[in-house]
Amino acid sequence: MKYKRILLKLSGESLMGSGQYGIDPKRLEQYGNEIKAIKEMGIEVAIVIGGGNIFRGVQAEGSGIERVQGDYMGMLATVINGMALQSALEKVGLYTRLMSGIKMEQVCEPFIRRRAIRHLEKGRIVIFGAGIGNPYFTTDSTASLRAIEIQADVVLKGTRVDGVYTADPEKDPTATRYSELSFQEAYEKNLNIMDMTAFTLCQENNLPIIVFDMNKPGNLMKIVKGDNAGTLIN
Ligand code: UDP
Repeated sequence: MKYKRILLKLSGESLMGSGQYGIDPKRLEQYGNEIKAIKEMGIEVAIVIGGGNIFRGVQAEGSGIERVQGDYMGMLATVINGMALQSALEKVGLYTRLMSGIKMEQVCEPFIRRRAIRHLEKGRIVIFGAGIGNPYFTTDSTASLRAIEIQADVVLKGTRVDGVYTADPEKDPTATRYSELSFQEAYEKNLNIMDMTAFTLCQENNLPIIVFDMNKPGNLMKIVKGDNAGTLIN
């Protein structure tokens, strides 16, 4: 295995599966199995999940809900997704902990860095919910920050496309996938990998990112083995 401890970032949208909103049970089951497979290879797995399938802060604009309020709503959405994912992982026999950036003790543990690391060492899968607990951030930034805090070897950003392309592959048929890129190149070419806050955190802390297609069965396993199945930014 190429990596010992990974941070997997899943977007909220990916949980919708073929639906337009909410959580698709089939997708959840698929993720549970994919994650189980890599866990069985001895990899320590931490997960940050987004909330875009339920609510996004920017969505609030123009709806009478103020931005900061909207951001908190988005963070709560990530906890809902985290709970769903936790159940899916437990269903396939994995041990998990959900840790939240906003205290809600009846539902999950508060995020405590040392404790998160301990959970990972004990073989539990740690899901980080509620983002970093602050408005004006995203779950991509959460993924970068938590990955650095827990000293993960890599951030695996699961998306709907299998990597970073020279142009939008859904619009331009001549677009080709990069198998590897430097942070500098990605920045200069203005490639949209993560928001700048998230991207810079990784760059400054020498934390590699891999963008890959999480929806293709077996892909997560390929990535942790070091196969060229996505785009590596380092
Ligand atoms: N959010 C936030 N602070 C954080 C993480 C998330 O305010 O640290 C809010 C923000 O409004 C964001 C929403 O939660 O739009 C849902 O997260 P995100 O859009 O990153 O989810 P994804 O696009 O990955 O589904």
